[in-house]
Amino acid sequence: MHRILLLSIAAGLFAAAGIAQQNPVGPAGRGGRGIAIKGGDECPPGTTLVRVGTCQAPEFPPPSIVDYRPSSSLVVDERPVPRAKFPVVDIHSHTGPTPATIASLVAQMDALNIRVLNNLSGGSGEALAQRVRYIKSTKYADRFTVFANGLSQFRGVAPGYGPKAAAQLEADVKSGAIGLKIFKETGMDTTKADGTRLAINDPELSPIWETAARLNIPVIIHTAEPAEFFKPLDMHNERWLELALFSGRRRYLVPVSFETLTAERDDLFRKNPKTRFISAHFGWHANDLGRASRLLDAHPNVTLELAAILYDLGRQPRAAHDFFTKYQDRVLFGKDTYAPEEFPYYWRVLETKDEYFDYYRDYHAFWKLYGIDLPDVVLRKVYYQNAQRIAPGLLNR
Ligand SMILES: [Zn+2]
Repeated sequence: MHRILLLSIAAGLFAAAGIAQQNPVGPAGRGGRGIAIKGGDECPPGTTLVRVGTCQAPEFPPPSIVDYRPSSSLVVDERPVPRAKFPVVDIHSHTGPTPATIASLVAQMDALNIRVLNNLSGGSGEALAQRVRYIKSTKYADRFTVFANGLSQFRGVAPGYGPKAAAQLEADVKSGAIGLKIFKETGMDTTKADGTRLAINDPELSPIWETAARLNIPVIIHTAEPAEFFKPLDMHNERWLELALFSGRRRYLVPVSFETLTAERDDLFRKNPKTRFISAHFGWHANDLGRASRLLDAHPNVTLELAAILYDLGRQPRAAHDFFTKYQDRVLFGKDTYAPEEFPYYWRVLETKDEYFDYYRDYHAFWKLYGIDLPDVVLRKVYYQNAQRIAPGLLNR
């Protein structure tokens, strides 16, 4: 016992003095497996900090992050929310009804209190017109809407594309589209006819934005990806698991940066003040609400949509509550992936002040969520009132 204590003190002194020990004998644990580090250094791989200046390896082989799922021992009030408190417009869905699914889809939506599913994958031309015709032929015509996706989804842009795409958008709106969706590939990966990357603020696209303004429809735009996707896949990347699972998300392998993409997006917002833009996924600034604030303050024509960023709101419940209160007219509800069992996590984060509860996807977040406790007046705006104002086609059908 004395020996361990003395070694512990010695290791601490060495560390405090910034002296690295060669083959140190550790203080903690019976095996004396401690490894001293200098102030500011990281523990070597396979070890963890056990005392100031001392790292140690576990006695048993550690589980991988894929398998380690500790059960929380916290006992605290829980208020799961299976059904949203007010009707919800899911402005960011990719699901629409088919004759085979419509009955069960509507039953699921009713149970969750989703009033409208807005399918952002509406397509264009005859495919879009067919979708709208089918919706209108059912007795649930007021439950489903679609956004158009633009002529050839912005592929192969060359001089003259803009006016043609604007005309196509006008035709798609006549067919029943209530907005335009720009997929993330546009601006990031899609190439022009000359082989170069199409930037989202390319002047050739201007007639499209002007037409959207004239037709009074919103443009929802997914720009870039979470900033962590653009950073090296190392032991400090909080999206390590996700990047290791999905090769297509490894944006650090491609030349265009997060800052370039968001700068081009902001230039688009600035140059088209009469066009209403919905920046999908909070513009990927939900992990930096100060930046989200600056985006909204600089661009009155922009609103945010909260699909797939719940893990960022739920880890900063007080800041998120204040943000939603301040910008209560500027946030729309969206979910992206349609999964009935996942929506209640959104209701719970937005509506309750529950603490430290699980999120539904480990690869998004290694942390727990907290409710942000929005008052009813804000909830109503986020769930449906803002969507009705930004996409008037929700009401005028
Ligand atoms: Zn989406």
